[in-house]
Amino acid sequence: MSLVARLARPEILALEAYSHAAWEPTLERLHANENPWRFPGDASHAGLNRYPPPHSLELEARLAALYGVKPAQLIAGRGSDEGIDLLTRAFCVSGRDSVLICPPTFGMYGVAARIQGADVLEAPLMRNQGFALDETAVTLALTPAVKLVFLCTPNNPTGNALDHRAIERLAGALAGRALVVVDEAYTEFGSAPSMIGRLDEYPNLVVLRTLSKAYALAGARCGALIAAPEIVELLRRIIPPYAVPVPSSEAVLTALVAPRLATVRERIKLVRRERERIAQVLATLPSVRTVWPSEANFLLIEVRDVERALEAARRAGFLLRDFSRGALTPRCLRISVGTPEQNDRLIAALTPVAEP
Ligand SMILES: *Cc1c(COP(=O)(O)O)cnc(C)c1O
Repeated sequence: MSLVARLARPEILALEAYSHAAWEPTLERLHANENPWRFPGDASHAGLNRYPPPHSLELEARLAALYGVKPAQLIAGRGSDEGIDLLTRAFCVSGRDSVLICPPTFGMYGVAARIQGADVLEAPLMRNQGFALDETAVTLALTPAVKLVFLCTPNNPTGNALDHRAIERLAGALAGRALVVVDEAYTEFGSAPSMIGRLDEYPNLVVLRTLSKAYALAGARCGALIAAPEIVELLRRIIPPYAVPVPSSEAVLTALVAPRLATVRERIKLVRRERERIAQVLATLPSVRTVWPSEANFLLIEVRDVERALEAARRAGFLLRDFSRGALTPRCLRISVGTPEQNDRLIAALTPVAEP
């Protein structure tokens, strides 16, 4: 039995995908009840009066080239959030199946599971070891009902990369039993290679990528799920038709061209430089107790007084993300790396906190 036949929800395996209007660009479209005229001022290339191709074929081909995979291994969606949602809906039977997460981590894995009615099991990262993956805890938490194991590397909000060998050991141990979903939203800012290169070896591995962070396209809502073709084919059956809007796919296709990609690479370098610079400065402030090393575009810090730090940042005009209620992140804040000028102003705002 194939991996998908064994793991997916039976109703989804039996489902016939929505039959959308045929896509034959050489013929004139009188088959989709579209409006024949463009809206005044519509500057899009394709015309917003027209439905896009069913599966953003050009977009998926471009993203596949960007990530070095075959188009059959990739499905584009509205951010990687859509990939998380599709996986949960395709693989978790409500009231029976579970997902496993390693907190503190990205909130959407648990939210998608709860919406679907799946249980959320936890194997916390090891705070005293730089928030490393606890392989023993993962093994102990696993049950036969776990269909998806979500791992985020570099992890949000802690910033550290997980040990890829540990991820591979887990994928090997779960072969045929569960999918290991590796969320690489911040991988461009780190030093470890993508796990995409390991997909051929581990058919139950799924990699999530996004254009929201390193590519500065969060507003375009575009991400990619990369996996074995049989997994991608299953998810194509349940993704809403025309999922990525035309303005988004056109913006992405316009952005992903050589000279602009050179700018992306320059800015990634700048973010890394600034991250290291502000990490060093923050670590010297009396108001800051810990700055964790980061391979992402943010820093997790522990401060002495959360309210004072948040208030000082707010007075200087900045919002920071408060993680102080998390079990493993007391007094912790997450700071996105800004422009050098923003970073200087934030540091200045946090500096007098201890000595008002
Ligand atoms: C920001 C982020 C994403 C990106 O979500 P999009 O829906 O692609 O914008 C995915 N995973 C993690 C861990 C993130 O922090």
